[in-house]
Amino acid sequence: MQTRHTNQGFNFDKYPTFEKDIDPKQRAWIEVKGKAIETNVRNLRAKLSKNCQFMAVVKADGYGHDAKVVSDYAIKGGASQLGVATLKEGIKLRSSGVKEPILVLGNLYTKRDLIISFKNDLMPTISSIRECLICNNIGKHYGLKFSLHLKVDTGMSRLGFESDKFVQQFKKIKSFENISIKGIYSHLSSADEDNSLAPQSSTQSQRLKFQELLKQINVDRNHNIKIHLANSAGMLLHKDFHFHMVRVGLSMYGYSPLAKMDKNLSLEPALFLKVKVAFIRTIDQGVRVSYGGKFVSSRKTKLAVLSIGYADGVPRNLSGKINVIHDNKFYSQVGSITMDQMMVDITGSNEIKVGSTMLLLGSEGDKTISPTDWAYQSNTIPWEILCSFKNRLPRVQID
Ligand SMILES: *Cc1c(COP(=O)(O)O)cnc(C)c1O
Repeated sequence: MQTRHTNQGFNFDKYPTFEKDIDPKQRAWIEVKGKAIETNVRNLRAKLSKNCQFMAVVKADGYGHDAKVVSDYAIKGGASQLGVATLKEGIKLRSSGVKEPILVLGNLYTKRDLIISFKNDLMPTISSIRECLICNNIGKHYGLKFSLHLKVDTGMSRLGFESDKFVQQFKKIKSFENISIKGIYSHLSSADEDNSLAPQSSTQSQRLKFQELLKQINVDRNHNIKIHLANSAGMLLHKDFHFHMVRVGLSMYGYSPLAKMDKNLSLEPALFLKVKVAFIRTIDQGVRVSYGGKFVSSRKTKLAVLSIGYADGVPRNLSGKINVIHDNKFYSQVGSITMDQMMVDITGSNEIKVGSTMLLLGSEGDKTISPTDWAYQSNTIPWEILCSFKNRLPRVQID
């Protein structure tokens, strides 16, 4: 039965009921600036020769940014292929209307998965004759060619044909009539380390090994086969790593994998992690804050309780080590980060209110906090920080 409640001019019935009606900016959320991705791709592409293609790596839901949004803007910026890690990620992109070639970087090894991959027009990464045979049989069954990329291991010891057997095996693979080799690639293990360009580095020896194999199988004349080796770091190191295509993740999102950043390249972070102040309290001197009482106030302290915690993907071991930004000022996070909330010392601020928005990652005014800062503080890498953000954080596109 409909009843009409009114109280001080409030019309209670006009308030929504459903999950979809919740404001995505009600608690904590990630804002994604698609234009930044587009600009980064354009600036990165300017480093490549005209014929070198740009594969936008959008695995792990576009490094936490939303794979569909990232793909659309990367394509606008000039990306011509997409890379995903899993079959599911690939299918999701295809069914969202992406038309560009999609390479699945992870290994698909069952007939079932390879058939699904074929039917969705996804290119699998192939690391063995056995997988090649399955693809060839699938192609034959449909009277078509199954497009795929071959991977060679040159020093990562992860996926890929063994480099010293590849030349022999490639002869056999060439005889398969129902596959179409669209690419041959390898992956660098250490391009982001200091001195990776030094002549004796493992990065250089991976490149040389790869080039030697390519020479032996004589693929340079076959222009349908894309040769690719570089991730972001490899791409930024030197042109020698570019070949026919680069596979770029981290730097497209606006972060450099290299300690020494190219001054002529500007990258703009696309991600902003924001949170609402849910509560404010003032505590006396000598009062314990959060689990374990690891922080004890040294003076009368005003605390803001923020609605975000480790269940949203903020690493718990950043407790007491990070700042948040409000109105171009830094405030320190204090006490243990809890599952869903964390506390910030806002003593002295009169502007911060319940419902105010604070910035955990991104730039505001002249202040910036980057996933690289968090990674450094929590002894990990920015890649892991970015893909730790959970689905509980709505992704909001902001162009
Ligand atoms: C993730 C990934 C990349 C992208 O790496 P970035 O360092 O983020 O640029 C490239 N190639 C492969 C095979 C990958 O798995």
